[in-house]
Amino acid sequence: MARGAKKKKMKIIKADYIYYKGGYLEEHAVLFDEKIIAVAPYEELCSSHPEAELLPYVPNSVLYPGFINTHVHLEFSANRTTLKYGSFVEWLYSVIGRRDELLGECDQKILDEACAQMLRSGVTAFGAISSLGLELEAVARAPQRVVFFNELLGSNPASVDVLYADFLSRLEASSLRSDAHITPAIAIHSPYSVHPIVIKKAMALARERGLIVSAHFLESPQEREWLEHGSGEFREFFKKLFNQERPNNSIGGFLDAFDGHSTHFTHCVQAGRSELEAIAGRGHSIAHCPRSNRYLGCGRLDLETIHELDIPYTVATDGLSSNNTLSIFDELRAALMLHEGIDLNTLARKLIDAVTVNAADVLRLDCGRLEAGYHADMVLIAMDEKIDDYDDLPLWTILHTREVTQLYIKGERHV
Ligand SMILES: [Zn+2]
Repeated sequence: MARGAKKKKMKIIKADYIYYKGGYLEEHAVLFDEKIIAVAPYEELCSSHPEAELLPYVPNSVLYPGFINTHVHLEFSANRTTLKYGSFVEWLYSVIGRRDELLGECDQKILDEACAQMLRSGVTAFGAISSLGLELEAVARAPQRVVFFNELLGSNPASVDVLYADFLSRLEASSLRSDAHITPAIAIHSPYSVHPIVIKKAMALARERGLIVSAHFLESPQEREWLEHGSGEFREFFKKLFNQERPNNSIGGFLDAFDGHSTHFTHCVQAGRSELEAIAGRGHSIAHCPRSNRYLGCGRLDLETIHELDIPYTVATDGLSSNNTLSIFDELRAALMLHEGIDLNTLARKLIDAVTVNAADVLRLDCGRLEAGYHADMVLIAMDEKIDDYDDLPLWTILHTREVTQLYIKGERHV
């Protein structure tokens, strides 16, 4: 607690259902200040803590831990109809061609609105992938907890030292904002775009400082073909733009670089069983961005195998450079639609865990659970009518939530 700050008054919030360890508690309530103090039957909490403020009861309500979006690029939040969707390499050409224009348009107002849109959908923490550090002030202003992934990008050996120095200065700048609920972290852009020498340097730094690491991995079929065979649309792309003839990393070599440091791999749509087994066996996790994958023509993540191998995964929106909204609920609904082979209610349950406990573990945040000792980051959702059967509640929550009814971060209400 900051010096001079008064300890927050304890409050009790009651809901018809409280999400707890993958199920729901009825007639329960949460006692909290900045942290969750207890989850217990409502009557019991009221009599044991008569001094606590009782928050007004909201009918048909469900209380969840705040949702967590582990992968978003805010710098491209100005995009609506600028970038080309449908095919990954065409999209990439449009990003390179229109990048400066999009970055220029992305002012503080647009960044604030992007954070606010996530907040309205119940997001109390997010992982921001930053290639330039332009959104640092905006995320410091936002109420959410932020893991700030400073992105390392550059495959030309002649310029990697300059790029690495720039990456280091951005990493330092974000480290100085640790007061503002910001955790500095590292993003390695991808196996096709970062030279192995700098990956090695960045990973040594990550290990030394214990920093969280994320990397895009096997996103598109074109990426896989280039890394495996040095051919396909990427060949022309690299020849034309960077005068590069061969990929810098192999799939296996790239994965090996993260050994011993559990890493959050984004997309993995084109990963086969052997890569997924390696991810599982080496303690890594996956960020699943279903709409981004669909919009960029990347394919469908093999979620069945991920379930089978028990790989921890999150669901994330990616940026507005490859999406139409930053609502975590829009993303969860897309995941329900995309994976039509998985039993609907089973998937809905796993998706709720993906954006709560799994995401908190990946970002190493003490939230994502409604249990004593965790931060009081919570969202209350009022359903339109009485809920009789809570077995289907994960599904109803995903299908019917546009915006959350109340949202708390560190026990303070923001929605
Ligand atoms: Zn991304």
